[in-house]
Amino acid sequence: MTTTEKYFVSYNGVHKLCQKSAETLLKTIGKPDVIVAIGGGGFIPSRILRTFLKHSGEKNIPIQAIGLSLYEDMGSQDKIGKEVIRTQWLDFGALEKSFDSLIGKNILIVDEVDDTRTTLHYALTELYKDVKRKADALGRDMSDTKFSIFVVHDKKKPKKADINKDYMNGGIYLCGEEVPDRWIAYPWEADDIDEHTKKAHAQGHD
Ligand code: 5GP
Repeated sequence: MTTTEKYFVSYNGVHKLCQKSAETLLKTIGKPDVIVAIGGGGFIPSRILRTFLKHSGEKNIPIQAIGLSLYEDMGSQDKIGKEVIRTQWLDFGALEKSFDSLIGKNILIVDEVDDTRTTLHYALTELYKDVKRKADALGRDMSDTKFSIFVVHDKKKPKKADINKDYMNGGIYLCGEEVPDRWIAYPWEADDIDEHTKKAHAQGHD
């Protein structure tokens, strides 16, 4: 396999990585109260994870969607050099009606891939700040609010941003699998899913 070739992964591969990772999550942070899926890549992994995080008879874990977009900020002198735009954010009104709030909750942020880490850095920082602002306004503390992160794939490469452990409050960062720094082709992006799956198998991926 050349280093420029795309890294193909199949639906089965993603499913099994989510299944294995759900076991680790249950053993470490326990069952999340809510999953925050970063769209669109985090949606399918979030739904698969939910299957394995729930025991029969228990209520489904709610999945909230957020949308983030990266663009290269050519004029920026900061170390990240990229800006993140929110295209969709939590609906706190709806969340509070059905679910109290995120204060004191075990929150799991899910995306498909950790590339430069810019997106995960932004999502964690902004979610933490939003929940903290709300807690401060209500005179509640954040001591039971825990953030964890799950990504299906973590690319082995120098990252451009950090994950602030202080915000996680004992939560964990977990990846299903570490992968080389190549472009990953996900099955939900495939025009021809049979060809895509064949390529994943030919590369020795599930
Ligand atoms: P970041 O650089 O912030 O870690 O990743 C930003 C976003 O770029 C990811 O959420 C993902 O949607 C997209 N991305 C990064 N690397 C890949 C890749 O190898 N394959 C695909 N399909 N998307 C990627």
